Amino acid sequence: MDTVDVLVVGAGLAGLNTARLLADAGLDVAVCERRTSVGTGIRTTGIFVRRTLDDYDLPHLGPAVRRVLLYPPSHRNPVELVSGRDEFRVGDMAGIYAQAVEDARRAGAHVQLNAGYPAKSTKARFTIGADGARSTVARRLGLDVNRHLITGIEEVYPVATGSTPTFHCVVDPRLAPGYIAWVIDDGEHSHVGLAGRADRFTAPLPQLLQRFRDSFPAPAPAGPVQRRGGPIPVGGLLRRIVCQEGLLVGDAAGAVSPLTAGGLDPCLRMSELAASVTFDYLRSGNRYVLEHYDGAAMRRRYRIRSLMRRGLSMIREPGLAELAFSGLRTPLGKALAARILFT
Ligand SMILES: Cc1cc2nc3c(=O)[nH]c(=O)nc-3n(C[C@H](O)[C@H](O)[C@H](O)COP(=O)(O)OP(=O)(O)OC[C@H]3O[C@@H](n4cnc5c(N)ncnc54)[C@H](O)[C@@H]3O)c2cc1C
Repeated sequence: MDTVDVLVVGAGLAGLNTARLLADAGLDVAVCERRTSVGTGIRTTGIFVRRTLDDYDLPHLGPAVRRVLLYPPSHRNPVELVSGRDEFRVGDMAGIYAQAVEDARRAGAHVQLNAGYPAKSTKARFTIGADGARSTVARRLGLDVNRHLITGIEEVYPVATGSTPTFHCVVDPRLAPGYIAWVIDDGEHSHVGLAGRADRFTAPLPQLLQRFRDSFPAPAPAGPVQRRGGPIPVGGLLRRIVCQEGLLVGDAAGAVSPLTAGGLDPCLRMSELAASVTFDYLRSGNRYVLEHYDGAAMRRRYRIRSLMRRGLSMIREPGLAELAFSGLRTPLGKALAARILFT
C-alpha cells in the first residue's frame, strides 16, 4: 500500500490548487478524483470576479463583462449597472481544470482520475477533503457537513451576437426560489441557468430551465453544447473544518458566498491557507498549528451576506419581488447592488 504525506480528495479547483501548493513545498502528495476526466461533469458556470482576476493569473478566460442587467419577474424595465472596470470573465472550465492538473503534476503531485475515495490503495498522514458540497471526507473525519444547499442547473450555448457582453440576473421566485436565474453572454458563449431551493421548485429543473429560456429575450442559440449542474452550499463557512487527521477546503468546507453563491474565489484563497497550515502541521507535528484553520472565525466575514441571503430567500411571491425592485431603482438601491456585484 502506498503511503503519502497528503491525500487530496477531489480534483476541482480547490483540490488541484491545494495539491500543487503542497507538492511545490516538497510534500509527497496524491490526488484522487472519481471522475474519469476533469473536462466532464463540470459543476460551475465559471464566472470569475474582478477580485480573482486581479490576484490570480488564470488561463482560458473569455472576454470581459462590465454590464449587469437586473430583472424583476416580469422581465420588464431591468435595472442597468455598468462598471468602468472588467468585472467578470467566464472561464473555459475544461481548459482551466486541465491546466491545473498539469500544474499539480509538474509540481510533483500524483493525480489519479477514476479513483474514488475512500481508496484502499493510498494511505496518508493527512487527508484533505476537496470533494465538493456533499463531502465524504467530512463525514469520515467527523467534521461539519453542509446542510443549507441550493441546486443549480445551466446550459451553455455558442453565440456570435456582437452585442455588449452582459450578465442578466432575474429575480423570480417561481423559477429560482431563494436565488436567481441568469444568462451570461460574453459574446462567445451564453450560459443560461437557474438555481434555488430544492424544496421550493414547482417543476422538475430541466422543465423550469426550458421555461426560463423560452421566456427570456436572449439570442437564439444553436443548441446546447453542455448541460451542467449541482448543489451549492449557501449556509456559510462550516465551523469545524479541521482535525488532526485532515481538513476541508472549497465547497466541502462551505466556502461559498451565501449571497452570490460564488465559490471559485474562495476556493483559490482557502486552498492557500489550507496548504500552509497543512505544511506547518506536518513539518512541526504541533497540533496547535491547526487552530489557524478556524472555520468559526473565518465564518464571521460571511455574516452580512448570510443575512442578505435570508432576505432574498424570503421573497416567495413575484409581487414582492416586483416591489423590491422599486427599491433597487433608487440611487441607493443601485449603489448597494453595484457594491454587491462589483467587488
Ligand atoms: C450550476 C453552478 C454554477 C456555479 N457558478 C459559479 C460561478 O459562475 N462562479 C463562482 O464563483 N462559483 C460558481 N459556482 C460555485 C462554484 O462552482 C463552486 O463553489 C466551486 O467550483 C467548488 O470547487 P471545489 O473544488 O470545492 O469543488 P468541486 O468543483 O465540486 O470539486 C469536487 C471534486 O471532488 C470530486 N469528488 C467528490 N466526491 C469524491 C470522492 N468520494 N472521491 C473522489 N473524488 C470525489 C468531484 O468529482 C469533483 O471533481 C457554481 C456552482 C454551480 C453548481
